[in-house]
Amino acid sequence: MTDVLIAGAGLIGASIAWRLSQAGIRVTMCDAGSFGGECSSAGAGMLSPGGEFDKPSVWIDLAVEGMRMYPAFVDELARESGVAIDFQLTGCHHFVEPDVARRRAEFQASKGIRVELTDRGLFYHDDGFVDPTDMLRALRRVSRAELRENCALTEIEASDHRAVVIAAGAWSNRLRVKYRGTPVALPEVKPVKGHLAGFQMQPGSLGPMLRRGHSYVLQRSNGFLIAGATEEDAGFERAVSESTCAEIQRHAAELFPALEKATPCRRWIGFRPFSPDGPHIRQVEGTNVWLAYGHFRNGILLAPLTSHRVAREIAR
Ligand SMILES: Cc1cc2nc3c(=O)[nH]c(=O)nc-3n(C[C@H](O)[C@H](O)[C@H](O)COP(=O)(O)OP(=O)(O)OC[C@H]3O[C@@H](n4cnc5c(N)ncnc54)[C@H](O)[C@@H]3O)c2cc1C
Repeated sequence: MTDVLIAGAGLIGASIAWRLSQAGIRVTMCDAGSFGGECSSAGAGMLSPGGEFDKPSVWIDLAVEGMRMYPAFVDELARESGVAIDFQLTGCHHFVEPDVARRRAEFQASKGIRVELTDRGLFYHDDGFVDPTDMLRALRRVSRAELRENCALTEIEASDHRAVVIAAGAWSNRLRVKYRGTPVALPEVKPVKGHLAGFQMQPGSLGPMLRRGHSYVLQRSNGFLIAGATEEDAGFERAVSESTCAEIQRHAAELFPALEKATPCRRWIGFRPFSPDGPHIRQVEGTNVWLAYGHFRNGILLAPLTSHRVAREIAR
């Protein structure tokens, strides 16, 4: 019997595994494919409460709290693992119409987001990005969980474990989980496919991140520039479309004209876990089952917060 069973070794499951190992808890983490091989390594890594949320919702409160936790999380993870993590608070220019900008700024400032009106919209001082593949590399090194790859869980009897964490991203509610023989209802989740395009450019050629609606560009320290992203209701269809990436590039070039003539060196997709009433970061009442899924567009941003909350409660 293992102490805690985690279904899914994406950024969410792996962060929880790390925090539980730090608390001295024995963890087994199973993934249907490879460690970090799905949405978490596909994500752009924008950390952008300002760019993402402009209305009252549970998301904005989580995002603001999650962002505050980021620097310390990255610092601790980098120190403990010895892996350098590309994490930068570049700020973000968000291009919107003046009346929209004023409304957004007023609301977001009331939520604690540092935002400034500019002649083209808004500037978010504290937005930034992280390279999720660095985070995954570091987490793999520090988590003392027993990792089982190519191990798709189908049925789980939770009472065989001290706790079970469902962190299987867009696949989470395909699992059949029981607690003492009674089925545990898992909230709905579905995949929202996203395409991204990457360009190798001179390091430092883009300053702060740039964004209009769901079009954005950010540049990692090594010069790799990411342009995103689509939201597609296409199930788990894995095809990468050149024409969709060309469309992304066209919109991104309106933000950053150097992209007009650039050639992408990489095109890829991922499946965001979307839950209509998500994200789910909680214990299922009356069971020892924890939900950690439905992070949709912001699972990279919310990994520190999710792992902190879930691991703290399990370790209590
Ligand atoms: C195009 C795109 C851009 C994005 N950009 C950003 C961004 O800028 N900022 C941000 O914060 N977020 C971003 N995201 C979202 C972010 O990537 C996700 O919210 C996050 O990665 C979800 O992590 P996860 O661990 O829940 O899911 P995943 O990384 O998908 O991990 C779930 C794991 O569960 C495994 N699994 C599935 N079924 C089973 C099973 N039966 N048994 C065991 N394991 C199973 C899978 O193999 C997978 O490895 C983006 C996503 C996409 C697609």
